[in-house]
Amino acid sequence: MAVDSKKKKDEIVKVKKESSKKKASTSKKKTPKEELTKTNIFTEFTQIFEIKKEANILPKKNPKYYLLIILIILIGLIYLMWPKITILGDNPVTINYNEVYNDPGYKGKWIFKDITNKIKVKSKLNTTKIGTYKVIYQFKYSIFNIKKERTVLVVDNIDPQIIVPTKEINICPNDEIPEIKFEAIDEYDGDITDKVIVNHYEDKILLAVSDNSNNTVGEEITVDRTDKENPKIELKGKETIYLSVGGSYNEPGYTAKDNCDGDITDKVEIFGDVSTSAGEYTRAYSVTDSAGNKTEVKRKIVVRNYNLYNSGSIGNGVIYLTFDDGPSEGTTNRILDILADEGIKATFFVTCRGPDYLIKRMYDEGHTVALHTCSHEYSQVYSSVDNYFDDLNRVSNRVKNITGYDAKIIRFPGGSSNTISRNYSYGIMSTLTGMVLDKGYRYFDWNVDSNDAGGAGSSTQVYYNVINNLSYSRSNVILMHDIKPQTRDALRDIIQYGKQEGYLFGKLENDTYMIRHSVNN
Ligand code: ZN
Repeated sequence: MAVDSKKKKDEIVKVKKESSKKKASTSKKKTPKEELTKTNIFTEFTQIFEIKKEANILPKKNPKYYLLIILIILIGLIYLMWPKITILGDNPVTINYNEVYNDPGYKGKWIFKDITNKIKVKSKLNTTKIGTYKVIYQFKYSIFNIKKERTVLVVDNIDPQIIVPTKEINICPNDEIPEIKFEAIDEYDGDITDKVIVNHYEDKILLAVSDNSNNTVGEEITVDRTDKENPKIELKGKETIYLSVGGSYNEPGYTAKDNCDGDITDKVEIFGDVSTSAGEYTRAYSVTDSAGNKTEVKRKIVVRNYNLYNSGSIGNGVIYLTFDDGPSEGTTNRILDILADEGIKATFFVTCRGPDYLIKRMYDEGHTVALHTCSHEYSQVYSSVDNYFDDLNRVSNRVKNITGYDAKIIRFPGGSSNTISRNYSYGIMSTLTGMVLDKGYRYFDWNVDSNDAGGAGSSTQVYYNVINNLSYSRSNVILMHDIKPQTRDALRDIIQYGKQEGYLFGKLENDTYMIRHSVNN
């Protein structure tokens, strides 16, 4: 195009020169040969006109073009010179609530100058609260106010938690699935227990919960429908029962309960017979629940003669019932009845009181008739050694007259440890305790005091004074008085307690270990 327009310009110049040459020559010489015809001139003019018309296009458009270029260059320059902020890293940025927001960074440039540190960062970002936040990066200087922003999304991506007390429950085969206690906690929403959906599916309890941000978790609890627990048998009465030879065994009873089947007492089977002859027997109680869980408990039955105990040794766990100061009508005879009924032998330290037939009965029924002195008057028996032996002989003769038996077992009134004798004869107990042994007597004190001659005025007091002081690790010589109604009334219970607790009963005999107090006078 540029080449074409130059050519046309040159042609125009050439045409103009030629035209002025011809005019000049025409006017100088004015020869007809040189004069152009009217037709020729017209043609030439048209040619020039047309060339001009064509060539005129370029010279007219050029200025606008340059203006545009200059404008573009100007805008480019302004752009290059304008301050710029560049956001680094992701935009938007997603973080979890409570997570620390670390800005991925930004850069500021102005022409070739780094203006990063002139950029102010502003944000209302609260990472403890779910939401969409803007971080604004701003550069303000003179006429410039450049802003860029980054979006920060604070979200809850943390699953809630269902807390169950157990992952497996065991119930009876026919039980309804019980209500399960559970809790659902979301770190952001807090307690969302009420949003938990509970479903039962076959042998599972399915729990599911979603928090407000749709984080969903599930939990399952397996339901085991097998009865794994053994039934329980409870024996009434004692685990060990002591019986007298010839006595009959009365089953004290039992109950059987199962966690699933309930009361299954009627399913209990009992194995093992109890004979009435001496020996140890075992009774086994067995029960099986409907799931096949079996329980067996045992009871031991000891059948023995309570008077089987052979004296001579210390006699651990043996009870010696001893009755002083009798006999007495109304009490001694009743005591003998009870002893006969219970099959127990005892020892009576008699005086000269009461009817003879009671002493006879004691002897005939196999009890030990022992001597306590005739008068039982302290002022009499402890006034002198001779007076003591006189008194003792009198009761000894009484017994011998009634029974024909020469009693050698004695008990001092007040016991060998008494101090009342001091009032009548100083040191007499020291003398007497030695002398009686030399004369072939054996004297017995006691180590369990029923206190029936002291403060124990009721049968209950007598009972507890006795049973609370029994011991398996020694022989128990019990001080009682057959003249006391409260003793008579407590005797049956004392004997039965002793039997149930496995004590043996014995009577004092010549070779029985002597329980003696220390002498105080
Ligand atoms: Zn007495």
